[in-house]
Amino acid sequence: MAKLRITVNKARCIGSEDCVETAPAVFQLDADGKSEVVNPAGAPDATILAAARGCPVKAITVVDEGSGEQLFPPPKK
Ligand code: SF4
Repeated sequence: MAKLRITVNKARCIGSEDCVETAPAVFQLDADGKSEVVNPAGAPDATILAAARGCPVKAITVVDEGSGEQLFPPPKK
């Protein structure tokens, strides 16, 4: 399993909790009702990517730490 760097753009997050529902060990809402990463290794990569894809405002970015490749959103070519 690749090591992932997951970031949440809190300015964009609307607190819908979709990511928390998909991967509750990875994402939790903070005191302001915005998602934050509590454990980047808390779910399989595919689940984390599904959570990023499922965010209605695309606030989650996932980067493969090993290669530096941005996995989501797909880098613009
Ligand atoms: S799915 Fe997106 S908008 Fe909803 S809580 Fe997670 S980061 Fe925020």
